[in-house]
Amino acid sequence: KLYNQVQDLKGSIRVYCRVRPFLPGAMHRSSTVDYIEEGSISIITPSKYGKGHRSFNFNQVFGPSATQEEVFADTRPLIRSVLDGYNICIFAYGQTGSGKTFTMSGPKELTEQSQGVNYRALSDLFFLSEQRKDTFCYEVSVQMIEIYNEQVRDLLVTDGLNRRLEIRNSSQKGLSVPDASLVQVSSTSDVIELMNIGQRNRAVGATALNDRSSRSHSCLTVHVQGKDLTSGNVLRGCMHLVDLAGSERVDKSEVTGDRLKEAQHINKSLSALGDVIASLAQKNSHVPYRNSKLTQLLQDSLGGQAKTLMFVHISPEADAVGETISTLKFAERVA
Ligand code: ADP
Ligand code: MG
Repeated sequence: KLYNQVQDLKGSIRVYCRVRPFLPGAMHRSSTVDYIEEGSISIITPSKYGKGHRSFNFNQVFGPSATQEEVFADTRPLIRSVLDGYNICIFAYGQTGSGKTFTMSGPKELTEQSQGVNYRALSDLFFLSEQRKDTFCYEVSVQMIEIYNEQVRDLLVTDGLNRRLEIRNSSQKGLSVPDASLVQVSSTSDVIELMNIGQRNRAVGATALNDRSSRSHSCLTVHVQGKDLTSGNVLRGCMHLVDLAGSERVDKSEVTGDRLKEAQHINKSLSALGDVIASLAQKNSHVPYRNSKLTQLLQDSLGGQAKTLMFVHISPEADAVGETISTLKFAERVA
């Protein structure tokens, strides 16, 4: 039955678009979103982009009033498939400030209701594995890493933060970063504790003016091992929950030094991700995984039997329309 639900996802790549509401204080402003209708979104564009309206189609479009619960509801079948031994990736893509972290983690002041996909996914995993406890024994463990300037760092360490880690795809256990901390978890409170450690480590090196989190990719990886109590067979599935670096174009004439280097790394890795997903969507025989650390890291979870979900985020403000269009074009290419 569960396998059928997975098949029902029709194809292994899905793209959901989410529009952020106006932030408090800006409610009266007019939105670039003209209308949202059954998986379709229409944007009001300035004339240089064409006729004045442009629409895009996705598997799902969530408007500004969609709740965290509604957004997660359509993600559930994917989470189930991890317990059946599938690998999945969930990405949050969009310019800085468009709501990526809100979707994955939630707002700064968290409540049960405002929790994002990460917490809800783990909470579902625990719930479902409990339901199956007479037939399967599941073990859940997590890793949390950051990719900044094409370097991989462990976010769950208490010291040695700046140690660079290697990506190695050969490990028997299916760990692509075997040297990153791997922590076994058995409840949602364990998860909250770990996410807090990860958040704190992510903030290290960031100053008020220099919010590094928007220029690095963070990846929470959940490894699930399920032992069939009758046959003794072991299933392994894993889930990557990725909050990507901001996709905004940086004006190369305005930045230099470290900023320019960061921008180039981000640009390179986001286009490498787009290239991989687009070539999977087109069923190309060659998939260019080697072009960035991000796609190397996720190689076993992109393509093959694996399932991918991309949340693309857009800001409603008129002055963001250029970025909004380029975000939607990126998404259209991978959908
Ligand atoms: P990003 O991670 O893409 O840079 P954030 O998730 O930090 O963006 O969102 C920017 C701001 O907008 C934050 O204050 C966040 O709480 C708020 N926000 C984002 N999405 C929503 C939403 N769907 N509903 C309410 N507030 C949101
Ligand atoms: Mg963010």
